[in-house]
Amino acid sequence: MREELWEWKYQKLGEKVVERLKRKKHDAYLVNKKTDVVPLLKDIMKENSMVAVGGSLTLSECGVLDFLRNGNFNFLDRYNVKSKDELENIYFEMFKADYFLCSANAITEDGKIVQLDGNGTRVAPMIFGPKYVIIIAGMNKVVPDLESANKRIENISPMNSKRLNFDTPCTYTGKCDDCNSPERICIHRVIVESGVRHPGRFKIILVKEDLGL
Ligand code: SF4
Repeated sequence: MREELWEWKYQKLGEKVVERLKRKKHDAYLVNKKTDVVPLLKDIMKENSMVAVGGSLTLSECGVLDFLRNGNFNFLDRYNVKSKDELENIYFEMFKADYFLCSANAITEDGKIVQLDGNGTRVAPMIFGPKYVIIIAGMNKVVPDLESANKRIENISPMNSKRLNFDTPCTYTGKCDDCNSPERICIHRVIVESGVRHPGRFKIILVKEDLGL
């Protein structure tokens, strides 16, 4: 019963968010399970295209990295590099990609996408460069408004810092200290308000499950 009620809640909420995202001229999709993501990507993405990704647990959970590695793409694989220089080169090449895939830190019920980034390699190509940006997010990322989005981000950032093994206060205490650490992950906060300038550039896939942090 409990599961059915959450399924119902996520269906209703997901439908509302997808409608709001579409109203903002994004393409938006609601899928049931994380295993539905790759089949949808097969429909959306053209083969032989150049593809890049931003750091994301959600992409791994949905099998997206394996799909890109094994598919017919020119995948700029940031996780398979031999040197810092090679990684930096990928960061610049990302701007020329056909598709840039990442998740979101939060999506408001009225269709705003909120991201917090450290070095900007996720938010910069999201804003400018790649022809299309595909955002994959679990329903746990959906929040009522921007205030809740900021609270959500403050709550999850220590876990992200811990996951990345960064030397920040929150990695040790689990709480944000608005730090001055050189490894601070909370630097660039970006809100995508609308897609009207480039209709369809953003393709948001909402999954009716909890994914990532
Ligand atoms: S500002 Fe610093 S302490 Fe706070 S969450 Fe970000 S990295 Fe952690």
